[in-house]
Order: sequence, then structure tokens, then C-alpha cells
Amino acid sequence: MKKQQPTSVVTGAAGFLGSHLADLLLARRHKVIGIDNFVTGSVDNISHLAGNPDFKFIQQDVTEFLFLNETVDYVWHFASPASPIDYLELPIQTLKVGSLGTHKALGLAKEKGARFLLASTSEIYGDPLVHPQTEDYWGNVNTIGPRGCYDEAKRFAEALTMAYHREHRVETRIVRIFNTYGPRMRLNDGRVVPAFISQALKNKPVTVFGRGRQTRSFCYVSDLIEGIFRLMMSNYDLPVNIGNPNEMTMLQFAGQIIRVTRSRSKIVFEPLPQDDPKQRRPDITRARKILKWEPKVPLASGLTQTIKYFKTKV
Ligand code: UDP
Repeated sequence: MKKQQPTSVVTGAAGFLGSHLADLLLARRHKVIGIDNFVTGSVDNISHLAGNPDFKFIQQDVTEFLFLNETVDYVWHFASPASPIDYLELPIQTLKVGSLGTHKALGLAKEKGARFLLASTSEIYGDPLVHPQTEDYWGNVNTIGPRGCYDEAKRFAEALTMAYHREHRVETRIVRIFNTYGPRMRLNDGRVVPAFISQALKNKPVTVFGRGRQTRSFCYVSDLIEGIFRLMMSNYDLPVNIGNPNEMTMLQFAGQIIRVTRSRSKIVFEPLPQDDPKQRRPDITRARKILKWEPKVPLASGLTQTIKYFKTKV
């Protein structure tokens, strides 16, 4: 007998990561039900899926009860504002989607007997005192600072996921996503990749915050989504970091963006936002071992793809 086609629910399906995940799942023959309220997602990210018989879209806020008639095999919970300026503008919605939205998504998985994956974040480590960050580090978060709404919502979401796992025996997975970039990032989401690229393409000053000594490590979106898919299909229920360990300072990164875009932009320094993590690099030993995964796309080629996309948007 032919194996039944699996059905995946993706919350946040119109977002940067959610839409790339939907594409990968469809390519791997899943039926996909995407849910999004477009608070930070965009219809442009999924318009190419219109008319695909395996894709269904529901416009809904995931903090409200999720009712679906069909059987569901996998729930991928990606809905959330995710850039610092988005969650500064939407602190209550950010807290609600991480708490109430995660509750509804877990409730759906429990009801359907589906496996659940939480899109968590390196932000749960806060401004980390351990470097690089391993999954057993508990973090250093300012609960009442401007990033607290996102960091604590995701920390709560991890706790709720483990509670559903332990009490209701829901099969759960937790991915801690580090800085990711690629096509479909919003030009104005304030994150460093779209900010620097759009400034450089317009030959406007490139705004480095602080002295630019803070570090990040950037993972190309196709690498990230592959790692997340492998995690869902694995039998591992503790958190796994997915990201690229190639760490650099923001000043180095600004220089690289100016070079690869052949821009005439100059670097300008602006105040460092409060609680901006000073360093961030994933330790991916666990992902390597358990998922046989590591990033493959070099920064230069990922940036070429991303710049090509932003050229159509600026
Ligand atoms: N950043 C910067 N200039 C910008 C935007 C961001 O120097 O125009 C810095 C920011 O201070 C942080 C890093 O780039 O240290 C990454 O910021 P982003 O908003 O992309 O995400 P984060 O990793 O802080 O969540």
C-alpha cells in the first residue's frame, strides 16, 4: 500500500523562515497548511504557492484556537515577530504568540497526535557569558529589558514544550535558531543583514552600532531549514542549536557588505542598543553528531543570493 502523504502545519508560514520551510516541505511531498496573520509576514513570500494543490493557507492569529478538520502529522511553530525592532514595536503580541500561540500550537499537536517543533532562538541565551553557546548553557537574560519580551516568550515556549512532552507525551523538538539570512528577509525589519545591504545598495551610510566589536555568526537560510527538517525527523527531544559557527564582528561584516556590493557607502557609528549581545556563536557539536548536519553555504555565495533578492526590493 502507498504510504500516505504527511500533512504539516506551519505557523508563521508567510514569514522569512516559515515560507522557506513550506517550500522545502512541499518539495519533500508534504501537504502543507500555512497559518499567518501577516503582522510581520508578507503575502509576497507565499504568492508563488497559490494554486498548489498541496498548499492551503489560513489567515489567522495563532493565539486564537486552531481548528482543523484534517489529520496532521507535524506542527512547526514558527510564528513570532523576530527582529529586534519588530518586537520592540510589538512587545505584547510577541509575548502572546510565544506563550498563548505556543499553547494553541501544542494543543493542536496533542489533539492530532502530531509531532511538534518549536522554533526557539539563540536569544534564550541573552547576552551570553559562555562562548560559544552550548545547549546546556542556561543563559543571561534581562527579563525587564527591551529584548525581554522576545527572550522570555521563547524561554516560556521551551518550558511549555517540555511540559507537554513530559505530561502529555507529545513528541516534541526544540531548535535554537541563530542569526540567519537570505532572500525574503524584510528590507525594513531592522536586522543587520537587510540594513547593511540596503544601505550599501543605495550608497547611503552603513550604520554600525556601538564600535562594531559585537560578534554574530550568519547561517544561510537553506542550510538552516535543512537542519531543522532533520531535527523534526530525528528522535531527539532536547534543544539543538542550528546556525553557522563562522563568527565575525559587525565592523568586519559592514566592510564585507560594502566590498561585495561595490558600494561607495561609508561606515558611520550609532549608539549600541540596550542589552545588545556582545558575542554570539553556536556550538553545533550536537547537531553534527545527532543530525549529521553542518552548514554548507559559504558567506560569499549566500550573500550573492541575498543581494540579488534585495536589488529587486530597494
Ligand atoms: N546592527 C548594526 N547596525 C544595524 C543593525 C544592527 O550594527 O543597522 C548590529 C546590532 O547592534 C547587533 C548585530 O548587528 O549587534 C545583529 O543585529 P540584528 O538586529 O540583526 O539581530 P540580533 O542578532 O541582535 O538579534
